[in-house]
Amino acid sequence: MIYADFNGTAPLCSDVKQHLIDRLQNGPFGNPNAIHSVGTKIMSAMTKCRKVCSSVLGAKTNQIIFNSGASEGISHIFFSVLEQTDKRTIVISSIEHSAVINCAKYWESKGFNLIITPVSNDGIVDLNALENNLQHHSHDLALVSIMAANNETGVIQPYQAIAKLCQRFQVPYFSDTTQIVGKDEFHFEHSGMDYAVVSGHKVGALIGSGLILVKEPRTLIPHIFGGGQEFSKRGGTQNYIGIETLAIALNDFETHKTQIEIAKKARLQFEHNLKKNFPHIVIVGENAPRLATTTLVALPGIHGQAVQIELESENIFVTTSSACSDNEPTTSKVLKAMNVGDSVGRGVVRISLCLHDNSENYQRILTVLTNIYQKLSKIESFV
Ligand code: PLP
Repeated sequence: MIYADFNGTAPLCSDVKQHLIDRLQNGPFGNPNAIHSVGTKIMSAMTKCRKVCSSVLGAKTNQIIFNSGASEGISHIFFSVLEQTDKRTIVISSIEHSAVINCAKYWESKGFNLIITPVSNDGIVDLNALENNLQHHSHDLALVSIMAANNETGVIQPYQAIAKLCQRFQVPYFSDTTQIVGKDEFHFEHSGMDYAVVSGHKVGALIGSGLILVKEPRTLIPHIFGGGQEFSKRGGTQNYIGIETLAIALNDFETHKTQIEIAKKARLQFEHNLKKNFPHIVIVGENAPRLATTTLVALPGIHGQAVQIELESENIFVTTSSACSDNEPTTSKVLKAMNVGDSVGRGVVRISLCLHDNSENYQRILTVLTNIYQKLSKIESFV
């Protein structure tokens, strides 16, 4: 089996798996906030985990707030910033994940003004348009929320340049870093961001674990009150086993970072081979900087869902980013924002692998995908 949906969720990394087997067998289990020795032992392990996470992510330990994942982090950051400002304009990009879009829409329904910054056909945020938006609303800017890497295309955004613009206009910058962490170099302090998020299940840790990175911790107010946990920023007994897995998975990424370049080369070779077999094939965002492990590909006129089903029958698991309505797949919002037409938009399949050696997997996917495209081209084309 080839699991090629790491952007959807990453299987537990092997160090995490090993840790969990020992951990669940041997404990200790207890409340990390209790003052007995079981509690203090767990709390001290959690402190170590905070150190590991902060060092891998380029942050200070007090800039890390553990939580349940990116959606919670995003809601918490929006809440914190927007509850404490009298400014009324939120700026996002046209390619944000629904976790950001739905949050922004909620605050729009509460009276905020929502501005959407476009992207180029390669899926990169248009910095001139962003600057114009910031200039135009310069007296009313509450928050800028622009992601670091897109989950569908893998396109990496110029987040450092965005951070500089935000500093110039003195508006807090939150970046949804869910996809970049664990897949590419990321250093919170150097990023210039005010807020970022990490999702455990995207990096090989347990689902239900995650964290917020906050430059100025005093700016974060609790969204869940609870009993003063996480520096009184996020109440509720900490998911300490999840936190341990988060530290282990991030540490695993840190020790294998040289794999990024190797993975990128393998992906480029795979894409090159695909293009050799099918000169009209489209690699979405091909000319943009992209995550080392993501390829979003379409053969114009061939439905992505048909390709996905055929791949699955060969034990290869990918996703399509098109939703289905009235039995017709529709082009995703992200691809529409990139001016991708329906013949490509309805045809995309996303191949997202891990950072470890992928050459054999790519070879197999190439062979199977080539056969599928040949077969489906003969049967039907919807254009
Ligand atoms: N942001 C992006 C870019 C994502 O890809 C995802 C997950 O698909 C999320 C946010 C939400 O993450 P979580 O599942 O941790 O809530």
